[in-house]
Order: sequence, then C-alpha cells, then structure tokens
Amino acid sequence: MGKFSNAMWRMLGAQATRNQSKSVELIEASAEHDEWAKGLSDEEFAEAAAELDVTTEGGRAKFLALAREGGARALDMTPFDVQLQGAVRMLEGDVVEMATGEGKTLAGAIAAIGFALTGRSVHVISVNDYLANRDATWMKPLYDLFGIEVGALSEKSTREERQEAYGCAVTYGSVNEIGFDVLRDHLALAAEELVAPTPDVAIVDEADSVLVDEALVPLILAGSTPAAIPNSAIFDVVARLKSKHYEVDPDGRNVHLTDEGAHLVERTLGGINLYSDEHVGTTLVHVNVALYAYYLLERDVDYIVRDGGVHLINASRGRVARLQRWPDGVQAAVEFKEGLELTEAGEVIDTITVQALIRRYPTLAGMTGTAIAAGEQFRQFYDLGVSQVPPNTPNIREDEPDRVYDTKANKVEAVVSYVAEVHETGQPILIGTHDVAQSEELAYFLERAGVQAVVLNAKNDAEEAAIIAEAGRKGAVTVSTQMAGRGTDIRLGGSAGDEEARDEVLELGGLCVVGTGRYDTERLDNQLRGRAGRQGDPGRSVFFSSLEDPLVTKNLPHMREITSTEPDGLLGQKGVETVEHAQRVAEAAMLTLHSNTWNFNKQVNEQREAIVRRRMTILKTDEAASELKALESERWEELAEKIDDEVLVDVAREIVLYHLDRAWADHLAYVADVQASIHLRALGQQSPLEEFHKLIFAEFTKIVEEAMTAARETFTTVTITEDGVDLADADLHRSTMTWTYLVHQNQFSSGSQAMQGIAGIFR
Ligand code: ADP
Ligand code: MG
Repeated sequence: MGKFSNAMWRMLGAQATRNQSKSVELIEASAEHDEWAKGLSDEEFAEAAAELDVTTEGGRAKFLALAREGGARALDMTPFDVQLQGAVRMLEGDVVEMATGEGKTLAGAIAAIGFALTGRSVHVISVNDYLANRDATWMKPLYDLFGIEVGALSEKSTREERQEAYGCAVTYGSVNEIGFDVLRDHLALAAEELVAPTPDVAIVDEADSVLVDEALVPLILAGSTPAAIPNSAIFDVVARLKSKHYEVDPDGRNVHLTDEGAHLVERTLGGINLYSDEHVGTTLVHVNVALYAYYLLERDVDYIVRDGGVHLINASRGRVARLQRWPDGVQAAVEFKEGLELTEAGEVIDTITVQALIRRYPTLAGMTGTAIAAGEQFRQFYDLGVSQVPPNTPNIREDEPDRVYDTKANKVEAVVSYVAEVHETGQPILIGTHDVAQSEELAYFLERAGVQAVVLNAKNDAEEAAIIAEAGRKGAVTVSTQMAGRGTDIRLGGSAGDEEARDEVLELGGLCVVGTGRYDTERLDNQLRGRAGRQGDPGRSVFFSSLEDPLVTKNLPHMREITSTEPDGLLGQKGVETVEHAQRVAEAAMLTLHSNTWNFNKQVNEQREAIVRRRMTILKTDEAASELKALESERWEELAEKIDDEVLVDVAREIVLYHLDRAWADHLAYVADVQASIHLRALGQQSPLEEFHKLIFAEFTKIVEEAMTAARETFTTVTITEDGVDLADADLHRSTMTWTYLVHQNQFSSGSQAMQGIAGIFR
C-alpha cells in the first residue's frame, strides 16, 4: 500500500523516539527557569518573551517555562509536561497524537505562541466556527500575557472583521471560513477588497478529520448566471424507471443505466441516442445526475427536507450543513424528486479542495486523538510526520470485544437490551451511530424499551456541544453520530463540575460508549471509544455489528454466508473477523481513492495557482494597462486624449480581470465536463488520468491567451468615458449573486462533480 517498507517504518519510528526524548529533555531543562518566570510581573512578561530566541535550545527552554507560568497565571491551568511535549513537536512541524481530553487546545495555543514569537503568522484551524471562537476566547488571556494579538473568524464576520482577524499574529478559524475567504478573494476588483492573507503557519486541530477525512471536499464559490433550467422531461423519465433499468454498483457509489434503461430513456426523449456526440456531454450527464439523486441519495441519510428546502447532511459530520448545497444538477434533481420549487442555478466561479487549501501553508502542524493510524496519509499527502504523546494519566478504559450479529434486526435488538441493562445501573451511555436516520431509529427502539435518549441530530454546533457536554451525567443516554459534538469535553457527572455527581459516576464505572457498527476505518472507531476514559477516568466501550451493515455488504459483496447457532443471532469469532476484514478493505479503498482523486486534482490546482498569481498581479499593479497599451496602442492614445490616465488604468484592470475570471469559470466547467465524460471515453483505451491531464493541459494553455484576446476586443469596442466603463452595457455580466458551499466527496458519480465516478474506475 505505502511506499515505505517495514524497515523504513522502523527507522522512522526510531527517529520519532529520538525526537520524543529530545523534547522530554528540553522540558526537564525548562524547569530551572521556573523561578525566573514566576518572578516576572505581568508587564514584564511579554517583553521577556519577545526577547527570547525560541529557535535555540536555550531560548526554547525558557519559553516553556514561560508557558508553564503563563498557563497558571492567565488560565488557571499549569500545562502538563505532556502538553508542552505536544507543543514542542508541533513547533517542529509534526502532527501530535494526544488523546481526547488531554488538553490539545492549550498545547496548540502554546505552539502558536512559539511560532508567533519568531514573527510567523499562525492560523489555528478548527473543524467548525463554534470551536474556533470558543478556543480563541478561552486562550485569549494567555495570548494577552504574551503580548500576542489573537483573532477569530466566524461565518457572520464582515469583511472588515475578517481583515482585522487575519491581521492578528494568531487567527482561529474553521477550515470552511478560511477556505471560503480564499475563494471569495476571487471576487475582489481592487486590492483593498482582498481578505485572505499569504498563508504561513497552520496548526490544524482534529488533524485527521480535516486533512484526511475531509481532504477531498471541494469548497465552492458559485455565482448566478442566466439559469440553464434543468430539463424536467429527464427527471420525469428517470423517476419512472424500474429496478431493471438501472444498476447500482455494489459499493453504492455509482449508478448507471442498463441497456434496457438506456433504450427506454432514449425512446421517451424522442428517439435520441444518448451516447452520440450530441448527447454524451449534456443529456447523458443530466440523466446520470438525475439517477444519482433518485436512486443513490436517500432522504434523512444524505439530506433532509425542512422548511420547503433540501438541506444536506454532511456525511462525515452527520449534521446539516447550512448554506451548503449540491451543484445545480444534483440540487435541482433532488428538489424535483421531493416536489419542491427549484432554486436558482449558478456556475462555479472558483473552487479548491481542503487538501489544496492546507497545502498552501509552507509550515504545517496538527493535533488529534488519532494521528498514528493516519500516518501514511499525513506523510503521503502533506509530508507530515507524526508524534505520539503519552497521556498525562494512564488510560484505564476497558474495550470489550466486538459483538457481531447475523442480521441488522438482531443487532439492534442486542444494542437496545444492552443499553437498557446498563442504563438500569445509572451509568451514563453514549451511543455512536453512522447517520441521522440511524440515530432516530435507535432512539425510537430505545423509547419502546423504556429508555429515554437524547438525540444529537443536525442541530447547530453550539447546541450540540451543550448537549454532549452533559453526556457524562448519571442516567444520561445520548445518541450521536461519530462526529457530532467533537471537541467538546464530556465530564463525568456533567459539565458543571459537581464533585459529588462526579464521584457517583466514577463509582458506576464512568462513561459507557456503545458503537452501533464499525466505521469505514478503525481510526473513527477509536475516536468514538476515546470519548470514554478521559484523563485516567474509568470507562468502557463496545461495538455491535452485523453482517448486514453497509461496511460488510459494500466491501465484501461476495462474502460466504456465516450462520449463527445462537437464538439471538450472535456470531462467534468468524463474525468478528469478517467485520474486521471488511474494514481493512474499506481502509485500503479509501486510501486508493484518496490518491487517485488527488492525482486528478493536482493539475487543476496548479492551474488555479497560476490564475490566482496572474489575478493578483493585475489587482495590485498596473500590468493590465501596460499590456493593453502595448497591444492596442492606437486605441489607447485615442482614449488618452480625452480621458484621465488614472481612469484608463482602472478600466484596463476591470476589462482584463473580467475576461480572466470568465476564462477560469469556463475552464472549471470544461474540467467538470471532461471528468463527467472521461470514464466513458476511457473504458476502452488509455489511462483516464493521462487522458484527463492531456485535455486539461491543452485547454489551459489556451485560456490565458484567449482571455487577453477577448480583453483586447472589449477594449477596442466598448464605450469608455471619463466615468470609466460599463461592461454590463456590453453584455459582459459579472455574477450579481454569489454563494459558497461544499460537497462531500462520496456524493457524486456524474455531472459536474464527477470525481467519484472517475476515481471509481480504479477501484
Ligand atoms: P482535547 O482537545 O485534547 O480533547 P481540551 O483542550 O478540550 O482537550 O481540554 C480538555 C479539558 O482539560 C478541559 O476541560 C481543560 O480545562 C482541561 N485541561 C487542559 N489542560 C489542563 C491543565 N494543564 N490543567 C488542568 N486542566 C486542564
Ligand atoms: Mg479539542
């Protein structure tokens, strides 16, 4: 799978151990500066910190002493040695593994301060706005003491607020907000409007979730154009298909017409040939989009319908993502399917994947409860090393062996009776599910068994955090998807920190975590388990699975049957091995999918960078004017006789930007089209990747030039006055309405987001 042999990994392991002991020595050495740090007044503190050279060992030892004293003074938390160790490894550019509840927030802040003291500008990147703001506010007194400015972004921030937050040495923000700022800069028509700063250092919290699980999620900036109204005849015929007319891949990721289905569609649409040149890139794409919406996307699993609109559920987070929508074909198809009004269509102005966004940072570090298991991905995709930091107090959580059942029904029954039994004792229980529908279903069955459960479903992050914070109370039963409420501490006895309540729950054995099916990677299982047993608390975890779980049916479609000899359908070791086998298949498939998709994306990203560089030059300099002046000197001189030079320079900028942006949007549409059709083209012949790169490269080399040709054309024909230029008058429209959204990688098989379809060929 990986490029490294076992021997290589052992060598890397030895290196990691050396690094580790180096940081332990450094922390020991820092103790001798404790007195010095304690002796500093609040006023002297920042000055003492600023004088340090933290790139030297001596400077760093003193810095750690300041961090220890600063934590105590400003936050009433004296950082544990393991937190300082984590900070030191992050300063070295590693992803550190520190268990849930070990205090990564503080460790990350110390690392951020360390970077800031060397003059770097740091982004601390969280999984959501709520956590970004919570952490920035929580850590602010520490930053203040060190004299380092800190800011935070939120979805509601205005442009000025964003510029101010980015102006701070350390900025907390969610990956979405930071990404959308980068994209929105594509709308700037003057340098003052730019918001996103030059990327420098990123410290990514929940690093595996952002850098691996969400790596391929494209963030998208779209704008409205005179809408291409989806063809309802296509939706109509697709809606009426029977199961013999289409085929879903065993893994449920792709769907396509059977021959019979294709004939029916062709007949219904007036005897066309779907696979003819005329229809391959258009009608067939629309049909595939509709198929996808009708037969793969499931209500309450992939989206919910509320307030007359379709709301996406982000699969990896299990919650409704506000302001997010699918690209128009799919969005419209789902709206049609649900009998809703179609929302406005638009075009993609710019897009970037989370992976490409993060790779822009020249220095990268991260922290998460599960880093080691994602080590291969961190290395392969980000060139990041991984360090394991031991817990402050040893983990005594008991992980019970898996229980695997023959059918889903038997599994659910077993979960319900297990939960009911544990609940009798008063021990708090956290149940992890895979999606919203599963949560609802389970809560229903629990209620029938007399267990009242709180369900965390698609609420906003702050509300989820407030609910999950109480999951450790005596008698609590909380049902949640794996991601929901991440980053929130579950204190035994409740968030208020009542000692008596805590003691009672300690007595009962701490938090009991119940998984209702293994996830696609063991890493996610472990994240769920990690909710129990924080900071040396007691706790336990157990997973229930069945051979009917999607993990098994999707990844082992040709599995030999195993039958149970127990009345309740429990299987023996064979069952456990089967589930684990399915998980390994899923893990390998995800890694392959990730690198294939990345290979497809890479070139488009480089092209994007080139376009952005060109755009920046035009925004920040008079380049556009000098180019047009040189190319169209006659026109320039003619205009210069009656119009101010300054006005002309702005006009030139506006015209050149317009055509550059137009070209890029067209190029993105072209890329999407190629992606959608290339798997048809590639079935017989060349490597689809090679073919893709060839086409995309050829097109891109044309567009910059063509954009300039178009700009010259506009410059010589459009009316230009002392007031500037009115491009709309010349029928050159910029998007009047724009919005941002993201799409989850597993939701597309066709249409403009065909990554999945393409990557699918390789599996
Ligand atoms: P993580 O992100 O690693 O899951 P958090 O940063 O959310 O952990 O911290 C978990 C809890 O530990 C918080 O309630 C925090 O107040 C507490 N904590 C962290 N560091 C310390 C410390 N050095 N001393 C006391 N409490 C701490
Ligand atoms: Mg955290």
